[in-house]
Amino acid sequence: MISSSYRGRFAPSPTGPLHPGSLLAAFGSWLLARHAGGQWLVRIEDVDPPREVTGAADSQLATLAAFGLHPDLPVVYQSRRHGLYRAAIDSLLAQGKAFRCHCSRTDLAGQQGIHRQCVAGRERPHPAIRLRVADGSHIGFDDGLQGCFEQSVDREVGDFVLLRADGCWAYQLAVVVDDAEQGITHVVRGADLLDSTPRQILLQQALGLPTPHYLHLPLLLDANGHKLSKSLAALPVDGRQPLPVLRWLWTALGQSPSRLETATTLPELLQQAAAGFEPARLRTAAPKPGDIPPG
Ligand code: GLU
Repeated sequence: MISSSYRGRFAPSPTGPLHPGSLLAAFGSWLLARHAGGQWLVRIEDVDPPREVTGAADSQLATLAAFGLHPDLPVVYQSRRHGLYRAAIDSLLAQGKAFRCHCSRTDLAGQQGIHRQCVAGRERPHPAIRLRVADGSHIGFDDGLQGCFEQSVDREVGDFVLLRADGCWAYQLAVVVDDAEQGITHVVRGADLLDSTPRQILLQQALGLPTPHYLHLPLLLDANGHKLSKSLAALPVDGRQPLPVLRWLWTALGQSPSRLETATTLPELLQQAAAGFEPARLRTAAPKPGDIPPG
């Protein structure tokens, strides 16, 4: 494992082109890493082929490059790291911390989808593998922006899936293994993942891995108050006009527009942004609904 006092990352799933909400997470995580004098990595989370869109990973990387957001180390692809996920699952199975499960969604419907014990109606050829979540597994953490967040993982989530019945690694497993293996010290991402974090901390504890610092940025909302990336308004961002888009994202992150006033080129703007970024100005609330970046 490589170590560094601050190492952040941006980890998009290649399910489509980058939209303003994901670019906000990319820019926010880049700014916090640069502000701390740390490194910033990019990881493509392509472990879900059914949801993957051909060409999306390349298009996301091209967009990041068009905005001048270059990772400090080569891009990592989860689809090339099966051995790491397999080793983690094998160790959890060997310690009795994970188990094979034949329950389907229908089986679990009576328990609001929350698994506490197997109630499978029939055996499936390829069972899922779940983490055994002990009774009383209450996880709290201090988010860098949202404050204290707590969850009773046993009651609110239950035994969660690590390997899906369709053979795909679950996001929760892959993200935990990779954040640790890549030596990530600070996870900065959208607030839609706030309630995944207790699961990830529980899994880190089960695997004996360190817990990074977490900071969840506000989500961009559309005019109806829906998360931008989930709505039709999730338009791809145009990398041909990076300056106005970055200026808009900068204000969406609560930063003072005057800091970037004199920049006329992309390198100048990024340099001024890195120098003028003030983490204390980040806000928990989403920017005004209906505000979509220009370009
Ligand atoms: N791949 C996840 C997504 O695009 C984000 C993972 C993370 O930042 O932890 O929603």
